[in-house]
Amino acid sequence: MRIAVAKETREGETRVALVPELVGKLTALGYEVAVQPGAGAGALHYDEDYVAAGAHVVPDAFDGARLVVSVNPLDAATVRRLQAGTATMSFLPVNQSLDLVADLRDCGLTSFAMELVPRISRAQSMDALSSQALVAGYRCAMVAAGLLRRFFPLNMTAAGTVPPAEVVVLGAGVAGLQAIATAKRLGAVVKAYDVRAAAAEEIRSMGAQSIDLELETLEGAGGYAREMTEDRAARQRDLLAPYIAAADALITTAAVPGRQAPMLVTREMVEQMKPGSVVVDLAAESGGNVEGSEPGQVVRIGHAQVWGGANVPAQMPGPASRLYAQNIVNLVTLMTREGEFAPDFDDEIVAGSCVTHEGRIRHEPTRDALEGPAPQAETVETISEGDRHE
Ligand code: NAD
Repeated sequence: MRIAVAKETREGETRVALVPELVGKLTALGYEVAVQPGAGAGALHYDEDYVAAGAHVVPDAFDGARLVVSVNPLDAATVRRLQAGTATMSFLPVNQSLDLVADLRDCGLTSFAMELVPRISRAQSMDALSSQALVAGYRCAMVAAGLLRRFFPLNMTAAGTVPPAEVVVLGAGVAGLQAIATAKRLGAVVKAYDVRAAAAEEIRSMGAQSIDLELETLEGAGGYAREMTEDRAARQRDLLAPYIAAADALITTAAVPGRQAPMLVTREMVEQMKPGSVVVDLAAESGGNVEGSEPGQVVRIGHAQVWGGANVPAQMPGPASRLYAQNIVNLVTLMTREGEFAPDFDDEIVAGSCVTHEGRIRHEPTRDALEGPAPQAETVETISEGDRHE
């Protein structure tokens, strides 16, 4: 039974879904691993490394594959060439990929989206959102340190004392906590804010100061944040403004699942920052936490250099691929029985991550978006926006 590893086609993508080091995990399960030529080159894994690890490197790697693994979704032309019944496993941002989901359904493919792996403890080793956020958070802190024309740590020298840099981090989820930890290791004084109550303790456990704005917290479903009202957002911005004006570096990592990133910092707030200050907006691609940030660009706002993130995990392709590949191997292992790829749809991880199967869209919000809501006997109660899980 063949598992194929795709060469990524998204512009600027450097990651690969399986690294040579982990090929043996799949062959030990009974699979043949076929890799498209050059698939790992962006992450410095060459074809001969895959061959040495026991894989085949062949241009027609998808032929006869039971499962195709990739980082980004396959393109529509590739999807249409796959045999019905083939499975795909990749990131698949369903609400931005409705046409592709329709193709996956119509071609009879079984597709799994890494974003939809439930965030339960049993699935932690398969959680690619977390593994890639970890890489992105680290990278954000390093970018801030690299752009800032001053020391992060305190330096006491014979020529005098150089005070440490002050770093403010907004959003303390997986990426934000990693940015905090990295900036702390480099010696900066770090302050951080998040709308979730649980985040304050996590921020303090990293040795950073938790900024308390004395605003109500915004817990949503599944340990995520809830969307803010415009009034709450405006009050938050007013209260954060002095912290941002005092910072040498600002790192923003805030997100709300399924929504555009919240705008936390206006252009005016950035204009209050000191000469030489630096802003790193990890959320630039999904709308931006900072007004005026541009994905993949460094722009100047007032005295600050504002760096907008674009596919940030791909900027560290080695570790990002290694962690992602381990997530993939763990998910494939869960779906393997007696050497066969045989997903058990009664398992909540399998059911939760499946988008299409046997000509049907199994992910309900996506099915509703493409096919309209299933008719219901009677509406019993109205669910408010804030309580929705998706
Ligand atoms: P995310 O990427 O959706 O959001 C990043 C952070 O932005 C979150 O902490 C969120 O609270 C924050 N945020 C949203 N709006 C904000 C605002 N207006 N101002 C300031 N901050 C704002 O989240 P994530 O990093 O993927 O994870 C969030 C939570 O899920 C964390 O508590 C994390 O520990 C938890 N988690 C659990 C598991 C698991 O149990 N397996 C796995 C991963 C994450």
